[in-house]
Amino acid sequence: MSNEANTDCIFCKIAAGDIPCHQVYSDDAVLAFLDIGPISAGHVLLIPKCHCDSIVDLPAEAAAAIGLVLPRLSRAVMEVTGAKGLNILQNNGACAGQVVMHAHFHLIPRVPDDGLGYRWNAGKYGEGEAEKIRDQISGALANS
Ligand code: 5GP
Ligand code: ZN
Repeated sequence: MSNEANTDCIFCKIAAGDIPCHQVYSDDAVLAFLDIGPISAGHVLLIPKCHCDSIVDLPAEAAAAIGLVLPRLSRAVMEVTGAKGLNILQNNGACAGQVVMHAHFHLIPRVPDDGLGYRWNAGKYGEGEAEKIRDQISGALANS
C-alpha cells in the first residue's frame, strides 16, 4: 500500500535500476519498459516509480504522470510495430489477473486477425439494477 519503495517488489527493483530492463521511457515519476513475456512484439509496461499495489492506491500526481505519457507512448509503440490497434490493459488484484503487485499498465500492439483474444461475456442489467449501482457509485464518489 505504501508509496515507499518496496524491497520485495520486482518493479520497484526495476525502477531503482537494481534489475535490468529494456527501458523505452523514463522521467521523474514513471518508467516504461518491454514486458519480459510479450503478448505481442512491442508489448510495453508503464509503471509509476513510486510503489503502490494497484490503481486504487495510485496517488493523483502519479496517475497524472501516467496519463501524460500514455498517448505519446501509445503512438510510439504503434508506429514502430506497425500495429493497427492497441490494448491498454490494467489488472488490479489477483482475481483480476494481477501477478506483479505494483500498479502497471500493459500496452499491447494489435493487428487484424492476430489471434489474441479474450473472453468478454457481456451481460445485461435486470429491472432497476443499473440505476441502483449508478447511484451507489456516484454516491461513493461524492463521499470520497
Ligand atoms: P500482471 O499479470 O501483473 O498484470 O502482469 C505482470 C507482467 O509483468 C507480466 O506480463 C510479466 O511478463 C511481466 N514481468 C514480470 N516480471 C518481469 C520482469 O522481471 N521484467 C519484465 N520486463 N517484465 C516482467
Ligand atoms: Zn513496487
